[in-house]
Amino acid sequence: MEVSFVDLVAQYEELKEEIDSAVLAVLRSGKYSSGEQVSLLEEELAASCGLKYGIAVNSGTDALKISLQALGIKEGDEVITTPFSFGATIEAILQNGARPVFVDIEPKTFNIAVENLESAITKSSKAILPVHLFGQIAEMEEIREIAKKYDLKIVEDAAQAIGSTRNGLPIGSWGDAAALSFYPTKNLGAAGDGGMILTNDEELTKRAKALRVHGMYKQYFYDEVGHTSRLDEIQAAILRVKFKKLGQWNEARRQHALIYDRFFEGTDVTPPYVLPETTYHNYHQYTIRHPRRDALMAYLTEHGVRSAIYYPSPLHLQKAYAHLGYKEGDFPIAEKTCKEVLSLPIHPHLSREQVEYAADVVCHFVAPKAGV
Ligand SMILES: *Cc1c(COP(=O)(O)O)cnc(C)c1O
Repeated sequence: MEVSFVDLVAQYEELKEEIDSAVLAVLRSGKYSSGEQVSLLEEELAASCGLKYGIAVNSGTDALKISLQALGIKEGDEVITTPFSFGATIEAILQNGARPVFVDIEPKTFNIAVENLESAITKSSKAILPVHLFGQIAEMEEIREIAKKYDLKIVEDAAQAIGSTRNGLPIGSWGDAAALSFYPTKNLGAAGDGGMILTNDEELTKRAKALRVHGMYKQYFYDEVGHTSRLDEIQAAILRVKFKKLGQWNEARRQHALIYDRFFEGTDVTPPYVLPETTYHNYHQYTIRHPRRDALMAYLTEHGVRSAIYYPSPLHLQKAYAHLGYKEGDFPIAEKTCKEVLSLPIHPHLSREQVEYAADVVCHFVAPKAGV
């Protein structure tokens, strides 16, 4: 049996008629940029999180970058974040001229360890950028307490967490802004790039809306240096069709996760740890830990099961960010995690049989839990 890691064609096929007609309607309208589809998508996504404003941009990276810029993050400022994330998280900080300051992660959830946060705060700290990694929302009540105490902004990297909740509250409920990505493989993916800022902050909204079009508050008057970062009408139209399915698709991921959890009981596989505060996990990834990760991955490939490593190396050890001056050993939990994690196929278009097969292949390879 073959078990794919992503299947964007299956996603399209499920909605083919609706997507085709939505795309054609945009093509026939002649309105390709900054039109009704984008405005409606902004309203629908903001409303789904109980928020007032959505600002659609060109990517998740831009959603982070423009959020930080609109909050006044600039050269010399420090932004506290996790070393266990996608590079975009810190590009957004660096491209604003600010400095990312890493805090090691909590080994069970893979998210920033809140007990280490305060020790990273300096006079230059201006913001915290928590990442809701693999779909589980970070420990936001604690992060918000600390942000309040030191007067720091919060931008949530929610690129992987659309649909997730913590203590009943969705993404964007804790910070000044949350950033979404519509990269095709995200839980809500476009047929290309896209992203959105979600917020309740009217000032931030005004500024972000200007920044996405070259810093223009009024046409052809540039008040600050901005970006070209619009979302296309075609992408917005596709996203609006897919958004109606998101709840169902996230639910399919959760059903797959339950199958894996059940299979891995009593083995030495460490399944994803779901905090009691996590009231909904969108399972953007189902990421296990295993001491013989590389051999397990090869075994899965041999048996037709695709898997992926998110992420093979922490950000503080990457070549592009060497100038930050971090070294091996600085964030031992993130470093060890990179050697043990493996994400298994969990996309919504897998059948129950495929997930059971993948789980079974894992179980054939791994050992019983020590002492069992
Ligand atoms: C995908 C992703 C981003 C960036 O989104 P793009 O749309 O690819 O720019 C940022 N942070 C995290 C954690 C992501 O997974």
